[in-house]
Amino acid sequence: MGSSILIAVWILQWGRPVPDPFVLYGHPVLLLQCLWATIWLLQGRPLIVAERVVFLMNSLAVLVQLFLSLLAQEDRVLDLSSGAYWMLVAVSILSFLMFSTRHALWLSAGFYTLGVVLPWAALLARGTALATQPELLRVQLTCGAILVLLYSLAWYRERFLVERGQRLTLEQLANTDPLTHLPNRRALYPAVEALLAEVRLGTPGCLVLFDLDHFKRINDTHGHNVGDEILIGSARLVRTALRDTDHLGRWGGEEFLIVLPGVGVVQGQSIAERLRDGLAAHTFAGVGRVTASFGVAALTPHDDLSSSIARADAALYAAKAAGRNCVILRLDLPEAALAEAH
Ligand code: GH3
Ligand code: MG
Ligand code: MG
Repeated sequence: MGSSILIAVWILQWGRPVPDPFVLYGHPVLLLQCLWATIWLLQGRPLIVAERVVFLMNSLAVLVQLFLSLLAQEDRVLDLSSGAYWMLVAVSILSFLMFSTRHALWLSAGFYTLGVVLPWAALLARGTALATQPELLRVQLTCGAILVLLYSLAWYRERFLVERGQRLTLEQLANTDPLTHLPNRRALYPAVEALLAEVRLGTPGCLVLFDLDHFKRINDTHGHNVGDEILIGSARLVRTALRDTDHLGRWGGEEFLIVLPGVGVVQGQSIAERLRDGLAAHTFAGVGRVTASFGVAALTPHDDLSSSIARADAALYAAKAAGRNCVILRLDLPEAALAEAH
C-alpha cells in the first residue's frame, strides 16, 4: 500500500515543471525500505527490528523534507513541506505503537514543533509577510489536530488497559481463596448452577462435599501454621487427581466442594472413594496421615442450588456419623420432585 503510493507520487512528479527533490530521490529510498521490511517480515524475522528501521527512516525523511523546504523559494515552501506533515503523522502513529504514550507524545511534539517553527523561521528570515501563507498555517493546524486526536486515542487505550487489568485482578481476588488458591464459595456457585442446567438437559452430574477429619486436633497439636499447610497440601492432592473439567473449591474452613459434570451416581461414588483413598494414603511431613469424610449427591432435574448442596451436606454429615474416613452417597429426591410425585 505504502509502496504503491510512493510509486504513484514519484511517477506524477515527472509531469511537473519543477520536480520536488525529495520525491525524486527520497521516494526510491523509502520504496527500497518498504521492500526490505516486507522481505524481512516474510522471512519470519523479528518485527521489532523492522519497526525500528522504518521508524528511523521515516523520521529522517521528515527532517530532510523540512530542511529542503527551508532552502526553497518562498512560494514553494508549502509545496515542499506539506509531504513532511503527513509523514509526521505516520511517524507519530508508529511511535504510539512502539513506545509508551508519554515517550511517543514527546517524540511527536518535538517533530511537530520543528515542523511548525522551521518553515516560519525560514519565511521570516527572508522577510516574507506571514499573512501571505494561509495555506501553510492550515496544513500545520490540521496536522496538529490529527496528532492531538492520536494522543487522545493512545491515552484512552492506556487507561482502558490499566483499568481492565485492575478489574481482572479484583475479580480474581474476590473469587479465589487466598490460602489454597482454589476458587472460593462465591466462585463455586456459578459452577453448580452450570451443572444444574446441564442436568436439566439430561446429562448426569454429581456434587461431592468433603471435610478433613479431626482437623481441630491437628491445629491444637501442631499449630495453626501446620494446619494451613495441611489444607494447602490436601487441596493440591485432590486437585491433581481430578479432570480439568471438574471444579474444586474451598467451601469454608476445612470443607471442600467438588463439581463433577457428566458424572453419574456410580462413577461419582467411585471418584470420591479414589480421592478418599489417595488422601488417606498420603503422609504429611511432621503430621502423618490425614483423612477426610466424603458426601456424594447425584443431581436430578428437580434440584436447585440449595437442595443439591443440602443433599451433599447431609451425605457428609452421615459420613461423619458413620465413623469418618468414608464415602456416603445420598440418593433421596428433592422436595420439588416428591411434591410432583404426589
Ligand atoms: P470433624 O472430623 O467432625 O470435622 O472435626 P474437626 O475437628 O475437623 O471439625 P471442627 O469443626 O471441630 O473444627 C474445624 C477446625 O478447622 C476449627 C478451625 O479452627 C479450623 N480451621 C478452619 N479454617 C482454618 C484455616 O484456614 N486454617 C487452619 N489452620 N485451621 C482452620
Ligand atoms: Mg473437619
Ligand atoms: Mg468442618
